[in-house]
Amino acid sequence: MDYDEIGLRVGIEVHHSLDTERKLFCSCPTLLKTKDNPDLILERKQRFVAGETGEIDAAAFEETKKGKKIIYEAYKDCNCLVETDEEPPHALNVEALKVTLIIAELFHCRIVDEIQVMRKTIVDGSLPSGFQRTILIGVNGWVQTSQGEVEIEAIALEEDSGRLVASDKESLTFRLDRLGTPEVEVAVGKGIKSPEHAREVAKKIGDTVRSTGKAIVREGSVRQDVNVSIKGGDRVEIKHVPSLSLIPAVIEREITRQQTIIKAGKKVSRDVRKVLPDGSTEFLRPLAGAARMYPETDIIPMATGPLLGWVRKNLPETPEKRLQRYVKKGLSEEMARQMVDSEYLGLFDRVSAKFKVEPALIAGVFVSTLRDLERREGLNVSILAEKDFEELFYLLKGKRLVKEAIPEVLKLKIGNPEIKISDAVKKLGLGGLSDEELAAIIAKKIKENPSQPEGKIVGFVMKDVRGNADPARVIQLTKKMFNSPRQSP
Ligand SMILES: [Zn+2]
Repeated sequence: MDYDEIGLRVGIEVHHSLDTERKLFCSCPTLLKTKDNPDLILERKQRFVAGETGEIDAAAFEETKKGKKIIYEAYKDCNCLVETDEEPPHALNVEALKVTLIIAELFHCRIVDEIQVMRKTIVDGSLPSGFQRTILIGVNGWVQTSQGEVEIEAIALEEDSGRLVASDKESLTFRLDRLGTPEVEVAVGKGIKSPEHAREVAKKIGDTVRSTGKAIVREGSVRQDVNVSIKGGDRVEIKHVPSLSLIPAVIEREITRQQTIIKAGKKVSRDVRKVLPDGSTEFLRPLAGAARMYPETDIIPMATGPLLGWVRKNLPETPEKRLQRYVKKGLSEEMARQMVDSEYLGLFDRVSAKFKVEPALIAGVFVSTLRDLERREGLNVSILAEKDFEELFYLLKGKRLVKEAIPEVLKLKIGNPEIKISDAVKKLGLGGLSDEELAAIIAKKIKENPSQPEGKIVGFVMKDVRGNADPARVIQLTKKMFNSPRQSP
């Protein structure tokens, strides 16, 4: 297809959650609750209030019309009065601001002199306040691609919304754990030439955000909104495209859909549509009107100048430099490359700096074990958090876990998110043997097989202890026992 001839215009907005310790406007941690019952349940009815222009917004109207009851689930350990909109926002999280400034620098943006928190009206019920706070950080940037420069129109820092956990005819239930987590929004402007090119651009953006080492790795932490229009059609926004690989298909289908409408002599309406698993879309709501932003008067504007010196000194290393560093650490070229492309790169750097475990072993877990669990076993590895990996490598370093047992331990943990890694190790009977216990087993094998050589004994012992002892330790201990004077029977 000649995309130029059909007048294809594609824009993308990439949203990526940031892995900061605290939320954007309060000091609650950025953690997700999976099973525990909420400590507080709020019920609200959304009541539409006309905006300052006095006009009824089309998007607001659609949601209000449904008249659904909205239920919010809040938790003591990750929510406070800020999320429930009972208290004004606290000071802006400077860590999140610094990360976003770094991202804006990496995209060569012009950084705003002064940041002003704005309120964006959101009418789907996902925020108890009815608005989302957003801060414009940079404009007029660009990213280099295989088909030339593509414009990065704007970069904003936003608070994430609550997540929908249940919905029926009468009500919508949102969990407030995620609400307030910082997320960066990267809006792509002109320059996307084809559906496949759109995927490349989205990938480049994801790579750049991850290069800061401050991207959250979990399901739903990256969302792409794609907008498409063709000559004779109109701008249609497709929300929440869940993966990069789906982007070309979603755009192709939207082109076909608009072409069909145009051929039938009808008018393409400016809609917001949502993605179905096969890449087709369905109507969600009309596209919202403009002018839905108001200044957040609870937070005073802040100059960016004093932070820029720090930001420019702390830009992350380029992928090439990172690759060289990983190879120096002992990773094979292939593994280093996979690690550079991995969403776990920040985690890898932090974990391998903290624990004296062979870096290649840690990288192997991130690029190979997790991928196997995901692809071969269909497991949701994104529920594994940083503290889980820390616990895993802590146990490994203390020789209380052997590397062969890692896949089993992670599998059990994924199936039972409420347990700790150490519980999974215990449950699997992989507590690891103490030197005394291991020595007793070796002594028993020597006694049972008096004429066998050292190597054979190691074999017998390994068969008995399976995942419970590190082979190197068994060899070492057996050697020691062979060399020490034997006890007479
Ligand atoms: Zn809070």
